[in-house]
Amino acid sequence: MLHSEILDIRRWKTEAIEKCEVMVYTKIFLKFPNKFWPCGPGKEFFIYAHERRGYYTFWHHMENAYPGSNILVVTLTNDESKRVESQSDEETMKEAMVVLRDMYGPEIPDATDILVPRWWNNRFQRCSYSNYPMISNNQVINDIKAPVGRIFFTGEHTSERFNGYVHGGHLAGIETGKTVLEERRKDERQNDKQNQNFLLEPLLALTLTQADAVSSLHKCDVPAQLYLSGKLGIPEAIL
Ligand SMILES: Cc1cc2nc3c(=O)[nH]c(=O)nc-3n(C[C@H](O)[C@H](O)[C@H](O)COP(=O)(O)OP(=O)(O)OC[C@H]3O[C@@H](n4cnc5c(N)ncnc54)[C@H](O)[C@@H]3O)c2cc1C
Repeated sequence: MLHSEILDIRRWKTEAIEKCEVMVYTKIFLKFPNKFWPCGPGKEFFIYAHERRGYYTFWHHMENAYPGSNILVVTLTNDESKRVESQSDEETMKEAMVVLRDMYGPEIPDATDILVPRWWNNRFQRCSYSNYPMISNNQVINDIKAPVGRIFFTGEHTSERFNGYVHGGHLAGIETGKTVLEERRKDERQNDKQNQNFLLEPLLALTLTQADAVSSLHKCDVPAQLYLSGKLGIPEAIL
């Protein structure tokens, strides 16, 4: 890549990336020896109100998806996600149990297992998905998805309509794939054109009669130079 292109990335591309906010969305799974929560129609989700915003607020059970699994899921976001990612799973389990006992009473059993995904600390993720600011303009997303030289950018964050979603990533991948193919085809057409000229060069060389004119040049350069300077046309050379 050219040095100027690298500088280019540093400027408008990184500025756009910095303007695109990202979200951390954490679903914590807790397994229990038995169910103690209500199930049935209209009873899949429950909400806990704590004075601290976002503190183990959204809960749901997995009975509908995995009957008999005895699993509860609690969803945390952003600051709370980052906080629990930085502590041990045991501490997180203790916090969650205090919340559950507040809701369902002190008799409920302890969780036997916990899964805490770490989307923020995963170096290949660093977040869960993009979350463009409410007041944003098309220029930001255009700059985020614009290629820099031969480097192309894709993913849910480059989808104008569906950023943040799986189908956004899927559609953006298809769109970028098509663009890459189109660029390759352009390159191939360009190369074909150059190859045609290259194939003609030996033929053009055969038509040269002025030995002096070629003495200072590489033999292959001569016909190309004559052709490019308009002194010799392709039909003449072929004849
Ligand atoms: C907890 C959670 C819940 C979600 N819920 C929903 C939902 O209900 N509905 C919905 O539509 N969307 C949901 N999403 C968002 C959805 O998962 C993303 O929008 C989607 O996965 C983005 O797809 P992507 O291909 O753009 O990026 P990703 O799926 O992030 O794929 C990028 C890939 O690149 C890899 N990678 C990164 N860096 C490198 C590197 N240097 N070298 C090699 N590989 C690298 C990563 O490991 C990853 O596999 C959720 C996301 C999370 C985290």
